[in-house]
Amino acid sequence: MKAKILEIFSSIQGEGKYVGIKQVFVRFFECNMHCSWCDTPNSIGDTVRHYNEFALEDLMPTIRALKSGCASVSLTGGEPLLQADFIKTLLPELKREGLKNYLETNGILPEELAKVIDQIDTVAMDIKLPSSTKGRAYWKEHEDFLRLAVGKDVFIKTVITSDTKTEDIIKSMELVAKVDPQVLFILQPNTYELKNGVMKRCLEFQDICQERLTNVRILPQVHKFMKLR
Ligand code: SF4
Repeated sequence: MKAKILEIFSSIQGEGKYVGIKQVFVRFFECNMHCSWCDTPNSIGDTVRHYNEFALEDLMPTIRALKSGCASVSLTGGEPLLQADFIKTLLPELKREGLKNYLETNGILPEELAKVIDQIDTVAMDIKLPSSTKGRAYWKEHEDFLRLAVGKDVFIKTVITSDTKTEDIIKSMELVAKVDPQVLFILQPNTYELKNGVMKRCLEFQDICQERLTNVRILPQVHKFMKLR
């Protein structure tokens, strides 16, 4: 079995609960979404299709060469769970290397998560709001996904754009409150719209979410400020 991988590198985590830690990033190729703000368009796979194929025995030496000082390996993309069968074989190898894993996912493939969740350390899942993505809603998929992830070290991130509607924020708050109101919920302002009234929207949405959720934070993508990838 081989994985389609766009790039492998080490850097700091720029988003979410573990912002600032050093990680090895394995960026899987292809995504099942087309978010308007996507900062890794070459990983989506609908226009540019440049990637490398890695068997497990080729990938591990690359990770080993990069792992110095890294707390964990971020499995990112694209959407890594499109290659869940490969990831299932990778996770025990990472454990053998003494590395924790960190799954960064759009949170809409619960059946694929179910294949690997017993071996996952951290789940950084998105809730994709239809008014932000301009695509369809995935409430049921997100709820099933979160139910599977609860019990692991899971947190949620949702990107706020100038078009994000309050009704979508209320729906996502209710979804999380129904499953586990203590799960960390992060409002991430769209990096490309920081001067577009988005921060004001984030502050309003934080007040709304805190009515039902215990841990709501506003956090931008900090690696963009530091000019890191
Ligand atoms: S889910 Fe992530 S990788 Fe896929 S299009 Fe959206 S932002 Fe890009």
